[in-house]
Amino acid sequence: MKDRKEILETLQELEEQLRFYGELGFELVIDSKTMGDKRELKKKQETGLGWPRSSEAISSSDPEWQAEWDRLIKRIMNCTFCPLYRGRTQAVPGEGNRKTELMFVGEAPGRDEDLQGRPFVGRAGQLLTRIIQAMGFEREEVYIANVIKCRPPENRTPKPDEVKACSPYLIKQIELIKPKVIVSLGKVATDFLLPTSKSMSELRGNFGEFAGIPVMPTFHPSYLVRNEGNKEIKRLVWEDMKKVLKLLGR
Ligand code: URA
Repeated sequence: MKDRKEILETLQELEEQLRFYGELGFELVIDSKTMGDKRELKKKQETGLGWPRSSEAISSSDPEWQAEWDRLIKRIMNCTFCPLYRGRTQAVPGEGNRKTELMFVGEAPGRDEDLQGRPFVGRAGQLLTRIIQAMGFEREEVYIANVIKCRPPENRTPKPDEVKACSPYLIKQIELIKPKVIVSLGKVATDFLLPTSKSMSELRGNFGEFAGIPVMPTFHPSYLVRNEGNKEIKRLVWEDMKKVLKLLGR
């Protein structure tokens, strides 16, 4: 049984989280009849998540920008807003150049990422690093994040409720970074950034848009690792990256 102090702390955390969602243009709808499972994040505005709100957008030269990052990372590291926090060693917010033009978004941390607190450091991560380098960037020059910040058990696919609870963190990261282009790696990231019912094979190679930012969907590096000998998949990913480079004028 939780004591009064614990309950108050939990309520304070919840209030903080709701305020955070509110700032992003989300509202949390709680169905009081079936509470628990029916919590749902809804967009307040129909257009583009209520963001970017250009008049409120903070420039990276503004001291408030750094403060926003600090608050965001702290929130992610202490988040208890979905059950995945119970199984994590640590949350994995993302890493890299926060003023970059190029951002990569994956699915969720795996075992290595959970242990190290860094995104894409396992086998798939090493391949992603090689792709980034082949594009002419150092890993530190781009920003790498996931839709989900805590490792799902046995690396299972994140559930829709987990994506709903965690995605405001990614939205905030995109808002603060303002990349020129985002590469979405695999189905989970692509479904979130470019929602459609199409398959990855149909989507990859064609720019979509998230809040006005071009998004290039491509296959997840784990898929490449699982199909190591398949040169065609590698070739397709490289085709996609060439389009990204062209858009960046490189
Ligand atoms: N797969 C992902 O989607 N993200 C990681 O950080 C690692 C593996």
